[in-house]
Amino acid sequence: EGFNANVAAASALNAFIVTTPEKALEAADKVDADRAAGKTLGSMAGVPIGMKDLFATDGVQTTAASHILEGFVPQYESTVSSNLWAAGAGMLGKLNLDQFAMGSSNETSYFGNVISPWKRSGGSNAQMSPGGSSGGSSTAVSARLAPAATGTDTGGSIRQPAAFTGITGIKPTYGRCSRWGVVAFASSLDQAGPMAHDVRDCAIMLGAMAGFDPKDSTSLDLPVPDWEGELNSDLKGKRVGIPREYRMDGTDPEILKSWDDGIAWLKDAGAEVVDVRLPNTKYALPAYYIIAPAEASSNLARYDGVRYGLRDLPEGSGLQDMYAATRAEGFGDEVKRRVLIGTYVLSAGYYDAYYTQAQKIRALVAKDFEDAFQKCDVILAPTTPTASFGLGEKSDDPLAMYLNDVFAVPASLAGLPAMSVPCGVNGEGLPLGLQIIGRAFDEQGVLNAGLAIE
Ligand code: GLN
Repeated sequence: EGFNANVAAASALNAFIVTTPEKALEAADKVDADRAAGKTLGSMAGVPIGMKDLFATDGVQTTAASHILEGFVPQYESTVSSNLWAAGAGMLGKLNLDQFAMGSSNETSYFGNVISPWKRSGGSNAQMSPGGSSGGSSTAVSARLAPAATGTDTGGSIRQPAAFTGITGIKPTYGRCSRWGVVAFASSLDQAGPMAHDVRDCAIMLGAMAGFDPKDSTSLDLPVPDWEGELNSDLKGKRVGIPREYRMDGTDPEILKSWDDGIAWLKDAGAEVVDVRLPNTKYALPAYYIIAPAEASSNLARYDGVRYGLRDLPEGSGLQDMYAATRAEGFGDEVKRRVLIGTYVLSAGYYDAYYTQAQKIRALVAKDFEDAFQKCDVILAPTTPTASFGLGEKSDDPLAMYLNDVFAVPASLAGLPAMSVPCGVNGEGLPLGLQIIGRAFDEQGVLNAGLAIE
């Protein structure tokens, strides 16, 4: 009954693309059986979770929220989801997202936008964006339709939706979670991670998701630390860096106030606060919006009407016509925009002017962080420049939408672990998030600072 009530609530918010209650129940039955047999239970035993519909799930439709993959049923399971099932979790269903994870508001989904469970205070009826691209995940967790969900983060898609909905989400170091079986957007940036209610849940779930995978050539061959066991909110002896360049024009004053609150909380937890410089921050967003579309244009070439999902074969047409018709029909506008930008910046005449320059900036951004981490252990910054916005408010303005990611993309370009933790609400009653960025492989430092804030 409880589940059915949740399904009704879920359909009102459009968080799920498909529901799979039988899978969650199977996992619960298995816990009972294992317990009866005296077996040791996994770290996620019986926990029903939502899977972002970017992870391939054996026998369950996987769409990346795109028409071009509608009806595609993989015959294999992503490594991350296999790891979660092995730890005892069960799947409640596949969660809505921005199409191919391209977006910051969940408005680019072929299956319709997701509605945040949050509203502006004062009786406003405006439907709010749950953020994106992991908007189904943020909504499912925030609305308590699922205790936790998977997300993926290429340039903020775990952190920004977590901030918009008052939940916690961590993008680990690039390579921690296998990309095998995750629909590729920008392979040098894509990273899976957990979205949940608090830091401890994220630590447990990340422990279950992560691990070396020979099927992903960029997977980190490192043991998975006991993040949950090592949680510690005492920050004595730790230095927290405050990057001056993140005090950008246009940032909501309430966000700046929450940043000051965060600084005070970390001091209370024993940390020393230091000023750090990340001088190339302002170039990170334009570089990201060259690199990510470039990689996307290459990755999405596989959707040709032959191998997966949709095929549009106009009467009497040839192969090229089929490609064109399938893609015209199957890809949404934002996906087409990215493919066009990507092919443009990779074209022979413009490669050096755009792609090479963007790669140089990427190296400089990574170097900025390396320098800053000589002086501090973690960096504290806002997750987003504003709180959530109303659905439709930014959907006609791609640049305003891209600006949402301004604080999120630098850590993505550098492959660093970064988390968003809730830090209260603004004057309109909408949640705000603070971001903690750590050294490569130091998820623990990030989680511990997050614990001191929550
Ligand atoms: N909003 C960013 C984009 O549209 C990030 C998306 C993501 O991290 N998947 O590219």
